[in-house]
Amino acid sequence: MKKITIAIDGYSSCGKSTMAKDLAREVGYIYIDSGAMYRAVTLYCLDNGLCTPEGIDTARLEAAMPHIRISFRLNPETGRPMTHLNDVNVEDRIRTMEVSAMVSPVAALGFVREALVKLQQQMGKEKGIVMDGRDIGTTVFPDAELKIFVVASAEIRAQRRYDELKAKGQEASYEEILTNVKERDYIDQNRAVSPLRQAEDALLLDNSHLTIEEQKQWLKERFEEAVK
Ligand code: C5P
Repeated sequence: MKKITIAIDGYSSCGKSTMAKDLAREVGYIYIDSGAMYRAVTLYCLDNGLCTPEGIDTARLEAAMPHIRISFRLNPETGRPMTHLNDVNVEDRIRTMEVSAMVSPVAALGFVREALVKLQQQMGKEKGIVMDGRDIGTTVFPDAELKIFVVASAEIRAQRRYDELKAKGQEASYEEILTNVKERDYIDQNRAVSPLRQAEDALLLDNSHLTIEEQKQWLKERFEEAVK
């Protein structure tokens, strides 16, 4: 069967990664969470004092970019990819509210996007990849054979993120998460470089009222149509 490239874009916390991960595992494709890469750069900034209440030290971050190595390694027990920053597993640390609060301004920087898009394109050059993010169908893989754009209401997305953090035993406030989700939507849609938008040839999926199982089934059917 021919191998294709699958681009899944959409708003924060709308379940893109769950469906992308499940499909990749089922069909034997590589799964790449591009948001994790922007989160890893943000964590680097926080750990190195490059994000302060005054803003981001863009000159130092740009100089540091060549020394920020991001990779994914499979957890042998769960089979899930773990994000590594300079060879250290940062999978849990990149999901905290501290990182969520700073990631969209970091991801709006042109030089950050340029470096990460290049890396993402390298990861996908053999095809057989499912990548999720904000600009995968528009910028990273404009020729992807299957493009999906996922939407759901901000309140539903905040509730999902709240449940996820709680399940991991992390402190969470629904109101704080809702504010963060809306802020990230705004920044992601309005930034100058590769803003979040639906590619013309992307299929729209509103999963506000779908179960995980239903959206998984929907995606599998779209995949089967695309590889025919
Ligand atoms: O997908 P996730 O919510 O983890 O992504 C974190 C943030 O990274 C997003 O809010 C967005 O600002 C940024 N991002 C991006 N382009 C991507 C993936 C994520 O700008 N392809």
